[in-house]
Amino acid sequence: MNEKDTKYVDLNTTLSAVGKAVFATFYYDFKDISIPEDVLAHKIFTENSASRSDRQNFRIPRARRIFQMGQELDALRIVIQSKRVAPKARDLAKEILNRETLKNKYSQERREEQVFIQELNKEMDCNFHDSQLVPQYNNTSKSPKSLISNTTQIYPRDRKISQNALRMANYLCEVNNDHFVFRRKGSGINYTEPHHLIPLCARLDFPDVDLDREQNIISLCSNCHNFLHYGADNTELLHILYEQRKELLASIGLIISFDELKEYY
Ligand SMILES: [Zn+2]
Ligand SMILES: [Zn+2]
Repeated sequence: MNEKDTKYVDLNTTLSAVGKAVFATFYYDFKDISIPEDVLAHKIFTENSASRSDRQNFRIPRARRIFQMGQELDALRIVIQSKRVAPKARDLAKEILNRETLKNKYSQERREEQVFIQELNKEMDCNFHDSQLVPQYNNTSKSPKSLISNTTQIYPRDRKISQNALRMANYLCEVNNDHFVFRRKGSGINYTEPHHLIPLCARLDFPDVDLDREQNIISLCSNCHNFLHYGADNTELLHILYEQRKELLASIGLIISFDELKEYY
């Protein structure tokens, strides 16, 4: 971050008006615009002994403006670098920044996945014959692939691997085989979508293992797939899938606890 940058200077001024420690401490309250200002003002005033009640009148709109401008991560970086902010608040800012960065990577991954599914569908929707697939797990170890480098770094997905995983699930939803699936145009095969249980954005945590393997790819009906990405209360669904897959994952060196997996979602 360049300190001469006017955006940085403005942000720093705004952040000082909010209070850097307050910004970190009440980060998720500022972020959640469904919390009314007066409720939040009361909360900050009662939980923050150094606060004056009238300060909230200008604090809250400024903090929320930082989110509107999409500058919240830069704001956290400023808090982290501010020597005059209490270490506890700086540590909290660090923790939030890590969590938010992971969440951003995961939503970026959803966009990559959607592009991939479109390509996969194109291939599977006309004249698709699965006789060339080998619907068996191969547990020999495989090192990670190199990233596709354009502007952002993308971990390549192999269409054959995903097709194989869908085939091995008999083109049914693995949350529950009774879930509704429709047939694809052309090939007549059931429509399900591949989802990488350990997301590809977790690759740095598994530096020696390829995450694009059948063992890590789940066949899901459209509804379960969207629920897993966008749903509140999707923990139970994730847990079902984790229990089904943990041994298969371990068989190719992907050792992960449920709590660790949940962190990525
Ligand atoms: Zn997915
Ligand atoms: Zn389903």
